[in-house]
Amino acid sequence: MKPIQMVDTQTQYQKIKNEIDFAIREVIDSSAFINGKIVQEFAINLAKYLDVKHVIPCANGTDALQVAMMALRLQPGDEVITPSFTYIATTEVIALLKLTPVFVEVDPQTFCIDPVAIRNAITSKTKAIVPVHLYGQAAHMEEIMTIAREFHLHVIEDNAQAIGADYIFTNGIKKKTGTIGTIGTTSFYPSKNLGAFGDGGALYTNDEKLAANLKMIVNHGQSKKYYHDVVGCNSRLDSIQAAVLNEKLKHLDQYIETRRAAADFYDNAFEHCTKIKTPSRAAYSNHVFHQYTIILENVDRDELHKFLAKKKIPSMIYYPVPCHRQKMFSQFNTASLDIPVTDWLSERVISLPMHTELDEEQLNYISHKVLEFVNR
Ligand SMILES: *Cc1c(COP(=O)(O)O)cnc(C)c1O
Repeated sequence: MKPIQMVDTQTQYQKIKNEIDFAIREVIDSSAFINGKIVQEFAINLAKYLDVKHVIPCANGTDALQVAMMALRLQPGDEVITPSFTYIATTEVIALLKLTPVFVEVDPQTFCIDPVAIRNAITSKTKAIVPVHLYGQAAHMEEIMTIAREFHLHVIEDNAQAIGADYIFTNGIKKKTGTIGTIGTTSFYPSKNLGAFGDGGALYTNDEKLAANLKMIVNHGQSKKYYHDVVGCNSRLDSIQAAVLNEKLKHLDQYIETRRAAADFYDNAFEHCTKIKTPSRAAYSNHVFHQYTIILENVDRDELHKFLAKKKIPSMIYYPVPCHRQKMFSQFNTASLDIPVTDWLSERVISLPMHTELDEEQLNYISHKVLEFVNR
């Protein structure tokens, strides 16, 4: 059996090595390492794939979130509603821009922000909502957009984990996650579903004015060369990363299918185990399985993690400490907030190996070992 990895980007690369190597070689031969034409080509191809008007590449997914909040002209003290159960990048940029993070609860079924909790958290200072499509499944965007319209709030979708997922509205219309709110942001960190060979990120929007603003902000607030209209930053996707991503984008749908098949395998294996709650699939979204995350009931999670490690099976806890309990936010006194589902989940979730290169032998071995521990 091949060694089991949490993410196997190497085997994935080997399968399209010729195309990727050729694309990288073209960039090197052109020497256009920054802002080469491949960056724009990739942005156009990604916009087509997502069916969104504008894609603005940038340096990473954290910058994308920051730039989105800058473009919306959020002011110090403005409140931004966000789930506490997410990767720190989502919430860190809120504090970095001197905005106030308002941490709310997630839905225990989908792990995504709970629309009822959003509504309850709105004050006169609320300016934006940042739903996170966690683990690869959409937050409940239809309800979130209804709330946003009612209270005139911006919606920034953190789509770092769900690129390619569909959101299905009650009228049957399908849209890609990240293209529903005011701005969508994504990350091309190597282990993400569309991963580069280094850092990368992007913003998407259907709003023309906003797109122009985002483009300026990622490039020193520049409207034309050496004319700087607003304070911006330096956040570029380099040409080599764009070349890699442009090749991988062609395979994204197939990568998603492979992840779903692996998830189905796990689902079947754990079907009759009452101590494992497999990921639920929301009716309004399909799942692109950035992570396959289960909830353990009456199982010692740390012991399971150690047991699996001994059997050479990696596993990860995403995330052991919810944002509202991070020291980083001590100035906001959020540790005392009552967010029980989030606390409950952070003690019980564990993510199993999930990537495009898992074979049946590996999946079989992993699920048998998990069940062996859980059932003993
Ligand atoms: C990965 C990730 C980010 C940050 O992306 P980087 O490219 O690492 O900066 C933001 N939000 C979520 C939910 C992520 O998973």
